[in-house]
Amino acid sequence: MEDKITANQEAEPVNSNFDTTDSIDVPEMLIDQVIGQEHAVEVVKNAARQRRHVMMIGTPGTGKSLLAKAMAELLPKEELEDILAYPNFEDQNNPKIRKVPAGKGKEIVAAHKMEARKKAQSRNMLMMLIVFGIIIYSFYVGQLLWGIIAVIMLLILARHFMPKDDMMVPKLLVSNYGKDHAPYIDSTGAHAGALLGDVRHDPFQSGGLETPSHDRVESGDIHRAHKGVLFIDEINTLRLESQQSLLTALQEKEYSITGQSERSSGALVKTEAVPCDFIMVAAGNLDAVEKMHPALRSRIKGYGYEVYMRDSMEDNEENRKKLFRFVAQEVARDGNIPGFDRSAVEEIIREARRRAGRKGHLTLKLRDLGGLVRVAGDIARSEKASVTTAEHVISAKRTARSIEQQIADTYLERRKDYQLFSKEGVAIGRVNGLAVMGGDSGIVLPIIAETTPPLSTSEGKVIATGMLKDIAKEAVQNVSAVIKNVTGKDITNRDIHVQFVGTYEGVEGDSASISIATAVISAIEEIPVDQSVAMTGSLSVRGDVLPVGGVTYKIEAAAQSGIKKVIIPKSNEADVLIEEHYKDMVEIIPVSTITEVIEHSLVGKEKASIIKKLKKLTHLQLNLDIPE
Ligand code: ADP
Repeated sequence: MEDKITANQEAEPVNSNFDTTDSIDVPEMLIDQVIGQEHAVEVVKNAARQRRHVMMIGTPGTGKSLLAKAMAELLPKEELEDILAYPNFEDQNNPKIRKVPAGKGKEIVAAHKMEARKKAQSRNMLMMLIVFGIIIYSFYVGQLLWGIIAVIMLLILARHFMPKDDMMVPKLLVSNYGKDHAPYIDSTGAHAGALLGDVRHDPFQSGGLETPSHDRVESGDIHRAHKGVLFIDEINTLRLESQQSLLTALQEKEYSITGQSERSSGALVKTEAVPCDFIMVAAGNLDAVEKMHPALRSRIKGYGYEVYMRDSMEDNEENRKKLFRFVAQEVARDGNIPGFDRSAVEEIIREARRRAGRKGHLTLKLRDLGGLVRVAGDIARSEKASVTTAEHVISAKRTARSIEQQIADTYLERRKDYQLFSKEGVAIGRVNGLAVMGGDSGIVLPIIAETTPPLSTSEGKVIATGMLKDIAKEAVQNVSAVIKNVTGKDITNRDIHVQFVGTYEGVEGDSASISIATAVISAIEEIPVDQSVAMTGSLSVRGDVLPVGGVTYKIEAAAQSGIKKVIIPKSNEADVLIEEHYKDMVEIIPVSTITEVIEHSLVGKEKASIIKKLKKLTHLQLNLDIPE
């Protein structure tokens, strides 16, 4: 095993002067195909060497199951075993379990079958002779009727009392025949029977038609993963009882099979202990791990490793080359799509940059990126092109929109239909905010503020509606602190209502803070807002504009809906990687204070006074900040 793990340590470096990805070598071992998760790769290699369990925490599509599969390749196949169930003549309900070297199981079953067939043949021959003899004899003595009756009785007796030949044939529960590496079993979402094994119900429980109990035993994933890897994603969705049983299996390294449904005849049967010496790779996001059975978690922690999967990697020469290889790998894996030329790979890398949503990084959510590779390749193939080019990738981006993006598209249309937001003219207390859905699609989210006499007799309040979640509610509170400082108006005798228009799924995050502030200031001061402007940004209590996520998607959504200017936090400037065709459609305005936001969004002469007040406030704070 040492050799296997130390060999192929480093994948061949990719030569960046390729014509198409066909000339890039794809590493043979899966572990060498894993990109950007160097730490996890190290952990998996160590865990394979020492037979330790692994818990992988991270975003879907970053390579968790790929790593688990790679781990199975690293395990020694010399240790693999087959497992057989035999009848137990002392106790029918307790089938015997035997293990034999890998591949032998099949031979043993075949030999037993052959023997049973031979026995049956000779027995049938004997029966035929006896029957024949009785008939001839009874005919000879003139008692044919009695003879026939005797034959019928004999056949009935034989059927009931002679052992059935296949009763003796063992059942192959786990076979590793012809396997060239240790098993990898993905047990994500498996129910108890599939995970732990089961005994089928027998509808004919007696009368010579019954199936012998050892023959009704079905192995579970834990048994089929014997000497290999058992992978369970979203581990917390496994029922607690199953997690408990899994823990027992991990500790004992063997687990008897019994019927899982209580009322079936299978529940009477319980086999001898069945070996299940597997390595467990449990996966999930952070939430999943926190919600899993604490005893199981501490078992894995105590006897294994926990690794955190990365979402992105630095955008440098070396990592871009890894993505070249990634494209080559995905093309090879698909097997049906033409190789990618240089321009196509560059386009994929551009997309990796966009999807990272973080300055100077490339995304490692490679399952989705792999999806883009396949769609682009399919388009190329449907055009009978011999290589996939940048044009194919660009049109794939248009086709392969995520569910969230498609929902965002229909939102956009619906909002246009109902004029939920306007993109021209001016309006008091109304701002086009921007939000992201599902991590990769932006929407325009109008926010309306209005002041009214207070409902309660005490102090006026800021009341927000539109299914706000906690962080968004907090943002509203922070904003009101800023407004109280800024407007200088006594707002204690008024309520301010802030409404998020058309939010069906709720609003999360604080990226609408500057929009809320602008809407409220506009409402209180009765200064109109330019509706061709949209904005996103978080706000500190001192009036600084702080960075937010998803700016690229937000700007694209704004452009798509006809907005002309988008205000974003200056600190997000480098995250903007919008598609070429949006560039002429919108002007991007990076800002660092709320004063600038007001400057660019409110219209009319009156705004001068509020800007003056704001400037004074920020200067005041600056002065306060300077240490003596
Ligand atoms: P997860 O288990 O984290 O949800 P998978 O391992 O199932 O993700 O990834 C799905 C596919 O995406 C893989 O089969 C592979 O083609 C590609 N992929 C994902 N992550 C990586 C990675 N780090 N390196 C190379 N390919 C990857």
